[in-house]
Amino acid sequence: MKKRAEIIIKGIVQGVGYRPFVYNLALSFGVSGFVRNNNEGVRVEGEGEAGRVEKFVRTLKAKYPPMAKVESVSVSYIRPSGTKGFYIKESSTKENKTALVSSDLTTCSWCLKDLKDSRRKDYAFTTCTDCGPRFSIVFCTPFDRERTSMKKFKMCKKCSAEYADPKDRRFHAETISCPVCGPKITLYKGSEAIKTADPLAAAVELIKRGGIVAVKGLGGFHLVCDATNERATREMRDAKGREKKPFAIMCRDIGTVKKICEVNPEELKLLCSPENPIVLLKKKNKPGIRIAEEVAPKNKYLGVMLPYTPLHHLIMEQGLKAIVATSANISEEPICSTRQEVQRKLSGITKHILDHDRDIHSRIDDSVARIVEGKPLILRRARGYVPLPIQVRPSKQDILAVGAELKNTFTLVKDGRAFISQHIGDIKTAAAFDHFKATITQFERLFGIKPTVIASDMHPLYRSRRYEVKGMRYEVQHHHAHIASCMAENGLNEKVIGVALDGMGMGGDKTLWGAEFLVADYKSSRRFAHLKYMSLPGGDKASEEPWRMAVSYLKDAFPGKLPRLHGIDQRDIAIVSSMIDKKLNSPMISSMGRLFDAVSAILGICHKNTYEGEAAAELEYAIDKPVGGSYAFDIAKEDDLYVIRPEKMIRQILKAVSGKRPALPAGREAVSGISAKFHNTVAMMVLDICKKARNETKLNKVCLSGGCFQNKYLAEKAIKLLKEAKFKVYTHSLVPTNDGGISLGQAVIAAASLV
Ligand code: ZN
Ligand code: ZN
Ligand code: FE
Repeated sequence: MKKRAEIIIKGIVQGVGYRPFVYNLALSFGVSGFVRNNNEGVRVEGEGEAGRVEKFVRTLKAKYPPMAKVESVSVSYIRPSGTKGFYIKESSTKENKTALVSSDLTTCSWCLKDLKDSRRKDYAFTTCTDCGPRFSIVFCTPFDRERTSMKKFKMCKKCSAEYADPKDRRFHAETISCPVCGPKITLYKGSEAIKTADPLAAAVELIKRGGIVAVKGLGGFHLVCDATNERATREMRDAKGREKKPFAIMCRDIGTVKKICEVNPEELKLLCSPENPIVLLKKKNKPGIRIAEEVAPKNKYLGVMLPYTPLHHLIMEQGLKAIVATSANISEEPICSTRQEVQRKLSGITKHILDHDRDIHSRIDDSVARIVEGKPLILRRARGYVPLPIQVRPSKQDILAVGAELKNTFTLVKDGRAFISQHIGDIKTAAAFDHFKATITQFERLFGIKPTVIASDMHPLYRSRRYEVKGMRYEVQHHHAHIASCMAENGLNEKVIGVALDGMGMGGDKTLWGAEFLVADYKSSRRFAHLKYMSLPGGDKASEEPWRMAVSYLKDAFPGKLPRLHGIDQRDIAIVSSMIDKKLNSPMISSMGRLFDAVSAILGICHKNTYEGEAAAELEYAIDKPVGGSYAFDIAKEDDLYVIRPEKMIRQILKAVSGKRPALPAGREAVSGISAKFHNTVAMMVLDICKKARNETKLNKVCLSGGCFQNKYLAEKAIKLLKEAKFKVYTHSLVPTNDGGISLGQAVIAAASLV
């Protein structure tokens, strides 16, 4: 008896070699019919002997190509039509637009072999069905060459033959090309193309001699220089106008990384994963290769990645061990994606541009991650992860959540899939806001989403709120969004105890919040406890200058006689002190980020931030080894809310620190211990409040979110204490715990209110 099965496969199934895989499977089972990409994913019809077709279907359900991520395989049986042979059919674009797009894929090991010895030897655009650009070059779905930047490169005879050969691993590889027919590299000086037989080697030569070159990568340009060259990295820092914010480096191979940094097995796995993010690794005390101090000054960690395109491999193989590879942009603006943009904006940094003619359709930065509590924590979600959706509960309408102001991402929700955009960044600048708008349009087109509901933050000044969508508007409280984001990532749908610790966000009562303990589900959120309100002398200025927060905390802990703050002029302290007294431009804030700032300044570690979160990061890095013990603090009940009062802790810290400065060798160890004890204390605050919340609500699940949990020491300590007290603890992994995760939280909260 004959049978014909219709199979729809959904998920990341386009641009990952699915059709060739199905084709070969059909041949091996002797099944006839066809496979095609459509707007939903991959559609297969297979006909033949009943037993064979059933086996074919069973295998399709159990197996898939390595880079595919299957969401569902649905099967129905239809009338056999007597077809002969099995074909890969032209894609159909008629059906509903629900096909997913693969993220950009790191060069696979087979293609690396081809780079060494094949007709694609030394060819910088070698790809196959398992690797190569995807999201960054696609205009719309289905993922076929004609809808990508590869459209303009007509396949040569040899490539066409490989594309059509079922036995070839480039069978139906949409990005296939070769030195004859594919993209080409050109080295520019200013707007002039340099005449050279080997532009890549010429660029490497410039880098080796200490120069800076803008290199076009996958999702944008990098500014590149030799990371072992002190002078070159200093120049890069000066030219970029970036005082201390660390640069990421790219190392030739894992052996090189191990000479520079400590790498544990989890970190190794993350570094070598197909997503290939920048991983924060601890610098070695005695490195085998010296990286210039200017790469990450005063920082115990280095952001390290491995080459992820053939172009990067070819650059690194020419005798470079490690290069600085930092996004080519003006600070706070999006990464440059065309040579013209680099020429226009960055000519003051470098005239040399290693360009190629495969266009970048969607700009996307490198992702950044670190290992916390044995699992990846994504700090910046972009290349390799985007645009893979997170499963959420289906909502009645399509939703756009516009996210926060800094580290912005947006989220679009359709049919139970939440598409979180790549890291857009600080959308205060006009260029970044344009990027934000253009990326929303791109996502709407790619996934056929027409939002009729828009969710935003409550902060009246957030630029994202200016994005216009016709439809219902929802305002979502910032910390509720943090907790909902953590819940959604962990698939929770119930009331939880939420701990949101960050810099600041607009509270439900229009005061500034930032150290919040909530009892929340998607529909509602109740503030249960917070850190005592403090003056924020100078508003935004206080976030940039942590010493101001130190004055605020010291005044509170020592009423009447303000202790000296080492390294800050007494007159400046007096001015800030009187600002606080007169309540002059000093709003009240409950912020864990600002408490970290204050302690960092009191310890003399950091008085001024040259980048966001610097004082807190350096306070964490001051810990040389963990210690036990903690400082004292009080918890008071005011107006039905618990308030954490840190005065005793501040007094104890000041006593411990007096006379000891981290700059002095003698002070270093003391400061390490004080910082560790401070971190322990914050973890104790979390534990104590969670216990009170459990007593009153009988809830036992705790969600940790907010930028403060990027701090590995704090996160691991808090998780440990909570687990010892038998709480079930949920944290972020693939969705950022910082404001990059806010849009997902806004989206799921808006979705819940629609039901
Ligand atoms: Zn490959
Ligand atoms: Zn070719
Ligand atoms: Fe936040």
